Amino acid sequence: MKKIAVLGATGSIGASALAVIARHPDRFRASVLAAHRKVDELVALCARFRPDLAVIADAALETALRDQLAAAGLPTRAAAGMQALNQAASGELCDTVVGAIVGAAGLESTLAAARAGKRLLLANKESVVMAGALLLDAVRAGGGELIPVDSEHNAIFQCLPHPPRAVDVERLPGGRPDLVEAGVRRILLTASGGPFRGQGRADLAAVTPAQACAHPKWNMGRKISVDSATLMNKGLEVIEAHWLFGATPAQIEVVVHPQSLVHSLVEYADGSVLAQLGNPDMRTALAHALAWPRRIEAGVAALDLVQSGALQFEAPDRDTFRCLDLAYRALAAGGTAPTVLNAANEVAVAAFLKGSLPFLAIAELIEATLDAISAEPVGGIEHLIHVDLTARRMAQRKMRQGFC
Ligand code: NDP
Repeated sequence: MKKIAVLGATGSIGASALAVIARHPDRFRASVLAAHRKVDELVALCARFRPDLAVIADAALETALRDQLAAAGLPTRAAAGMQALNQAASGELCDTVVGAIVGAAGLESTLAAARAGKRLLLANKESVVMAGALLLDAVRAGGGELIPVDSEHNAIFQCLPHPPRAVDVERLPGGRPDLVEAGVRRILLTASGGPFRGQGRADLAAVTPAQACAHPKWNMGRKISVDSATLMNKGLEVIEAHWLFGATPAQIEVVVHPQSLVHSLVEYADGSVLAQLGNPDMRTALAHALAWPRRIEAGVAALDLVQSGALQFEAPDRDTFRCLDLAYRALAAGGTAPTVLNAANEVAVAAFLKGSLPFLAIAELIEATLDAISAEPVGGIEHLIHVDLTARRMAQRKMRQGFC
């Protein structure tokens, strides 16, 4: 019986993780559930899953959480604040952590779980983008495992050759054999193209948050939905693939595949291309990561290839969706540049969702912030947190100044 902490339990990935956990009560138990501010939803999940501990990251909501758990007659203990979250991710109550917090807010708990040697099922791509090297060091030092949950990276993981114990740090950069030695020529990351695929810049000048969040294939949280619409999601995933699989930027290619059935591919030296296919449903990646190296039922409908029809592949429109190249630029600059990219993106997306920044200005603001802050070698986690804050302030200042 695995004891699972679901950080970001009230979100879209949290729901998929809990759906798989609920299907397998003989294998998994949700022992810790954590959220940011949605106390009511967290308590409802506690009533269903009866975890040992519920954590609300906003410390001001501790009493509300405690009172509601007591009113519902639940035995679940309550804790609050970021430190409690980190303790929950690294403590005795779990052996597996689903990292499903959105944004840089997930960094510290992800690192805490890695240092503590947990099996880390990681959806929070922003923590890899910000702190790839530190995270891998933490996994190595903790002696645990990292299994990618992001559907593309989970697909790549499935298409790569597995050493006998797989997923652990032997597979990660610095630890795993070089990709070339393994015969890998390229990693092909598929992208749906988002809701605005095929549109030009003139069409996108006045798009609304509701339009940007209406993803044609995936039902996701609002931040990642906007990232998918700008193609920054794919840019973040390029950086994520660099760290997780030790691939150089030149080895990672993005291909638009609007049907979202091929979740990514790996090309080998002999010309073979291995792909992972399935219906677009995150329960597949979560079931794979939860049960690895076994396979379990995820509750996902079988893929009907005859019904699904033709599969299309096309090059991304890099002129309209400039965020993809900004991510490649940050990856090439290295050091703290991906942290700056991520912070500026989070500020820009939040402003767009509030209606105070036009869609096309998201890329412009990120570019202006990258221009203003030079990349430095990463000094450690405190340094990265400082850079993250500096980049957020810079992005906000640029917004006030109209990007001058
Ligand atoms: P959602 O917005 O649906 O959920 C986010 C979760 O994080 C919620 O539980 C939220 O709590 C919690 N949260 C937000 N801020 C904080 C904070 N400061 N401290 C603690 N918890 C916090 O996001 P998604 O599930 O869509 O995405 C989660 C992560 O997974 C992202 O990094 C995303 O890129 C990645 N991902 C998502 C996919 C998807 O299909 N959704 C696919 C692949 C990757 P509350 O509800 O209380 O606000």
